[in-house]
Amino acid sequence: MPLWFVRGLRRGVVTTHYPARPEPSAADLPTPPAFRAQNLDRDLADQLCGVCPSQALRREGDVLIFDVGACTSCGRCGETAPEAVTASGEFELATTVRAHLVKRIPLLREARP
Ligand code: SF4
Repeated sequence: MPLWFVRGLRRGVVTTHYPARPEPSAADLPTPPAFRAQNLDRDLADQLCGVCPSQALRREGDVLIFDVGACTSCGRCGETAPEAVTASGEFELATTVRAHLVKRIPLLREARP
């Protein structure tokens, strides 16, 4: 039986000090992607939309629409285009306004070489 579990039972404390103190295990969490707009053109944006299983991504003209509220942080977009997508590291995403979870990423107007 893990020591932290026994210690928690003995002390009656089973939670961490988050958010009063940073949570070290947060570094291991999967987080939604961050996009490098300078590496994103229409073709790549369409590829990303095609691999996203939760339809969190869609393209409208020269803009990639990213719905963070629909993203499951699966990482498929990052695997498809590591030059344009990285993990954001952000996990404190709660908001009272749904629209704040929808991001608009401008795309390159010309195709990448
Ligand atoms: S991490 Fe997964 S769910 Fe989120 S945008 Fe990328 S492909 Fe879609």
